[in-house]
Formats: sequence, structure tokens, C-alpha cells
Amino acid sequence: MLQEMVEVIQEGEENGNNMTIRFKLPSGAEIIGLPTENFYGGEWDLGPTWNYLLLADQPFLVDTGKSGMGRKLLTMMESAGISRNELEFIVLSHGHEDHDGGLFEMVESTGAGVKAHRIYDRLIRFYPTEAPADVNKDFPASCWHCFMPESFTNQHCRGYHQERNRLKIEQIGDGHCTIGETIHTYHVPGHSPDALAISVGGEALIVGDTVLPEITPFPSREAFFYQVREILKPQYTHAQSIYGLRAYLRSLKELEQIGRGLTDLLVLPAHRLFYDNHWNEINLKVRINELIEHHVERCAAILEILKQGPKTAREIAAAHFEEPLLKGFGIMMAENEVLSHCELLSASKDVFLAEDRGFEATGSSNFESLIQSL
Ligand SMILES: [Zn+2]
Ligand SMILES: [Zn+2]
Repeated sequence: MLQEMVEVIQEGEENGNNMTIRFKLPSGAEIIGLPTENFYGGEWDLGPTWNYLLLADQPFLVDTGKSGMGRKLLTMMESAGISRNELEFIVLSHGHEDHDGGLFEMVESTGAGVKAHRIYDRLIRFYPTEAPADVNKDFPASCWHCFMPESFTNQHCRGYHQERNRLKIEQIGDGHCTIGETIHTYHVPGHSPDALAISVGGEALIVGDTVLPEITPFPSREAFFYQVREILKPQYTHAQSIYGLRAYLRSLKELEQIGRGLTDLLVLPAHRLFYDNHWNEINLKVRINELIEHHVERCAAILEILKQGPKTAREIAAAHFEEPLLKGFGIMMAENEVLSHCELLSASKDVFLAEDRGFEATGSSNFESLIQSL
């Protein structure tokens, strides 16, 4: 279906960079795909960020690419036939830098308003007096869990965060909200606590990084909640409702429910719609089942590794992931991934954190029924 529907307006590179495409939905609504370059390199390459422009009564844009991509995106948007003054608003799928990096520049150039989940509006702010002692107070709450060294963040992130903090955000609430005549948002936390899916007339579903083809989105960690709990009061009081693998799996199940009954739903991910010279069509139900299964298997694999004795998250990561994935910052990402699974395994009482020794298996294997019950 995807291949029959997609109209390539501008050819791009084999990973999708600099392409421009158009979808005409049966109702007549149009969605323009504007992928912007996204370079992390190495084995963790996500491919470009797919930003989507909706040509509705009020034209709006979903996401703005990574930092430095604002101008490029503006040019792409204008070549697709929408002038900067026509853009009514920008909505964010979530607050990761490869999605809101170009936001400030786009807002400056177009005067468009910004809509994002209300957690985003809280996390992009600075709290010099409320920040916990062990975090970098010079950065916004969204960065308090960041593992990148200061030499990196000072060079790459400081300016972006200062600009982002100047933005006025129109807040989108939890659950299901309406932001346009046939445009609805769904709060789907887990990959990020502020993640949204955007439904276009029940014909297309823009899923951000919550559902991706070919690659499995990484879940956040429940531990991140405890650093920002003061900032998120009083609406959010439970870590697992907005952070971590449990929140993520719950959101996947919710998305699966949303997709039920919608035939020919066009699912638009924020990465890899086109990659390595091919289109990736997503069948929502099938892909969500694969993603859930992936996490079940990863939990099982971690338990298997722990059968040999207690291990730290880093030791589990080294045993579980292939060598190339562990290079450079890869080890930190791998460790993070292990920790988010260990949080779920601790909740199911299959694992506990032993003082000095790391994680230890309890001998039980309740995680699958916990995942089923979410
Ligand atoms: Zn993301
Ligand atoms: Zn992303």
C-alpha cells in the first residue's frame, strides 16, 4: 500500500536524506514527508529524522529535525509549496534533540506556534535552585540523566537548550486530545515521557519514535523520573506511568488498540520510512507484536546471563550485545538498555540489585505475565 500511495517529489540519497515525498489520503488530506539529516554514526545509526507536513485547513508540521536542520527544513517545506507564513503550528512527537533541534529556528522564521505534551514544557526549562545535587544544574531538567561528558554537551547542546527555553509552548494533555478538525493526539510515554502519536482523520498515524521499522526504539528508564519528580508535580507521581519499559510497553498496547478497526492505516515513523534504498511499510499490529516480543526476549536473555551469577549492568551489556555496538558511547547506550530491562525484571521480582555485586536472579520468571498484564 505504501509504495502505491507514495509520490516522490524530490529524489534523495539511499538512506532517505533530502528526499521529499507526498501522500494523498483518501479524504483528500495531504502529508508531505521531509526527512532531514541525522548523524550519530556507527552502528546505532537511525537514519534521517522524518518530519511530516500536513496540508490541512491549518497547515502544520510534525517535528523539526536535529539541531542545525531548521533552515534546511524551511527550504524543503517551501519547495514543497508551503510558504513560511502559511505554517500555522508545529507539533512535536517528543522532546529528543533529533526532533526538536530545528524548532527554535523554524519558529523564528515562520512565526508558527508550538504544541507539545505538557511534560515537554516542564522538562525544557532550567531549575537552578530545584535541581537535585548530583545533576548538572546548568542544563534543563530533560538533561539531568544525560551521560554525555561536559566537554561534549558544552560544545553541542548549550546553545540549543538556551534557545529552546525561550519558546512558548501550547500544552497538550494526557490521553486523547484534539488539535485540529480531524487531528488527534495520544500520549504514548515510554521512549520519552512526553511522546505523542498523532492521528490524521483515522487514515494516517504519525508515531514518532514509539514504533519504528527495522530498529527497536530504546525505552527510557524509571530512574529518570526520580530526578525530575519535583518538576512534574502534582500530575505525575508514578515513575512507571511515564518513564521506562513498562510505560513503553503499555503505550505500544494502546497504539495497537487505536489501530484496531482502522483498515489501510498509513503508519508514519520518525526514522527509516525509507532507508537503504527501500520503503518500510508498517503494519501496526504486526510491528507492535514484534517490538513487544523483542523486549520479552531481551528480558529472557538477561535472566539467562544472570544464571551464571550476579553481574553489573555493564557486564550484562558486554555479554549481551555484539562487539561493534559497544564502541564509544555505544557502551553507555547498551548499559541504559540493560538497566531499563532490569527495572522491569525487578518489578516482576525476577531480579534484585545486590549491594556491590550488581544484579542477581531470584530464580523466578514472572516477567512475561507482568508484561501481559500491562
Ligand atoms: Zn527519540
Ligand atoms: Zn528520533
